[in-house]
Amino acid sequence: MNYGLAGRVIAVTGGASGIGLAVAREALGQGARVALLDSSAQHIDAALTELKALPGAAVVAHAVDVRDPAACQAAVDAVERDFGPIEGLAACAGVSRPEPAEQMADETWDLVIDINLSGVFYSARAVGRHMLARGRGAIVTIASTDALGGHAGRTHYAASKHGVVGLTRSLAIEWGRRGVRVNAVAPGVVDTPLLRKVAPPEHVQNAMVDRVPMGRFSRADEQAHATLFLLSDGASYINGTALAVDGGLTAGYFTRW
Ligand code: NAD
Repeated sequence: MNYGLAGRVIAVTGGASGIGLAVAREALGQGARVALLDSSAQHIDAALTELKALPGAAVVAHAVDVRDPAACQAAVDAVERDFGPIEGLAACAGVSRPEPAEQMADETWDLVIDINLSGVFYSARAVGRHMLARGRGAIVTIASTDALGGHAGRTHYAASKHGVVGLTRSLAIEWGRRGVRVNAVAPGVVDTPLLRKVAPPEHVQNAMVDRVPMGRFSRADEQAHATLFLLSDGASYINGTALAVDGGLTAGYFTRW
């Protein structure tokens, strides 16, 4: 699959692991230039080692916490100045901290909302300012199927992801006439380090898989392909959508018969 992104600069928050790393890997494979924006120096080191080994890879990285709006803007400005105009942003940085609502610490609520919701806005705004000045660009936010329905044990996560879809649609409406498209990808369950960190016991995982009409979890590269398509000119009339990439999880209720 080729999305026509060769030579374009794609910025990826959370680009040093999981879905973001898959976006970076696929984009580089197609000749795009990739800027990783991630808060983990350790993840960045490992990701750069892998990505720089790809033939002809043009990749840079900035250690930035998306919760810090000034740091977000500074990193984006540095990419624009030193690496090239950002034509696509994939806002993938996010965390999951499952916890029963009645026991949830205020800090846990704030952490998840700050990274998953405010961080997406800060990074989209920082890149959007440059794109609007040029009248051209595309942004993809990574939401979740937890943006399309609630999830027990994840009140903060589901609230943050519903918010991501709300801000995505609002930016799409606000910026559509000015040449900047904004869409969300809503992954189902994806096999990434985030999933493995919060992995429930095997019988619960099996029950989760059993609910997916396709009978398996997603690979990160499947989320990357949807993201790169939405960033590409092939999606030139798609704006303000939340694309479920979930193997049919939200299409209905699957039961064995
Ligand atoms: P991951 O943990 O593999 O990667 C997330 C990356 O984000 C890490 O490199 C981490 O260092 C970075 N990050 C975390 N906090 C940050 C911050 N404050 N500033 C900058 N970078 C930060 O996770 P993943 O599974 O690839 O998840 C990526 C996105 O996809 C998240 O928004 C997540 O909510 C969403 N998502 C994941 C799944 C899944 O099943 N894995 C399902 C639906 C949605």
